[in-house]
Amino acid sequence: MGLFRSPQNELEKGGKEAEDAGIRSTCPRCGVQLPLSDLQENMNVCTACGYHFRITPRERIAYITDEGSFRELNGELMSRDILDFPGYDQKLRNARLSSREKDAVVCGTAEIGQYPCALFVMDPNFMMGSMGTVVGEKITRLFESAAELHLSVVGFTVSGGARMQEGILSLMQMAKTSAAVRRHSNAGLLYLTVLTDPTLGGVTASFAMDGDIIMAEPGATIGFAGPRVIEQTIRKKLPQGFQTAEFLLDHGFVDLIVPRHEQRETIASLLRLHQMGTAEKEKGEGEL
Ligand SMILES: [Zn+2]
Repeated sequence: MGLFRSPQNELEKGGKEAEDAGIRSTCPRCGVQLPLSDLQENMNVCTACGYHFRITPRERIAYITDEGSFRELNGELMSRDILDFPGYDQKLRNARLSSREKDAVVCGTAEIGQYPCALFVMDPNFMMGSMGTVVGEKITRLFESAAELHLSVVGFTVSGGARMQEGILSLMQMAKTSAAVRRHSNAGLLYLTVLTDPTLGGVTASFAMDGDIIMAEPGATIGFAGPRVIEQTIRKKLPQGFQTAEFLLDHGFVDLIVPRHEQRETIASLLRLHQMGTAEKEKGEGEL
């Protein structure tokens, strides 16, 4: 249960405190009080300790993509309470109000450093980015569109895992999205993921870890089950820093840790390298 319970959003917490203080937000890691304008100018990264605050998909799209290039796809899809799960309808209404989004992922096409790509960005403010049928469907459709348009996919994950209120229907999204990633990959196309804090459960076990190159934000928690569940199952104490991006990098589960300020440039370089590689391959085939 601990895995699915939404932790309080630090950004929101900071926001409330900031309202009280007028213009300041408190860093949850180092406790420094930051003027909100400084924080926003610094891409919502603490200027004192480098802590990466959780951000909305629209903020991320603004940081990453070329201005005015983002075109949203399937933005009208909304989850319904298909299983008549107690309280789910109300939770959905609250999530739509607090996030101002229709569901927990925003998808579309964009340009990054003038390289076109398909893009998805998950939303920590919508039921902690949990994956139900709509998230699975939107991700699947994005990979299908990207395969048709011969586009690379860039994805930012943040999720507590599968959405328990949709039961088995949310779990089957793991297989559905992974199959769509595979079809896109079989077409010779590139898929880059950036895992942000936290990426857990069914999202880690499907499209988050399916990327050709897996990046992570510094300090992000990344895992499948929570540490308490693992300790109770294997009856061993887990090492310090277990499930942090840095630990995963040391153990080969993550390829790169990329701070928010460098993400745009790093992604543009990877898109460029892939495009050059594809062009050379096609040239070689033409000569044969
Ligand atoms: Zn800090």
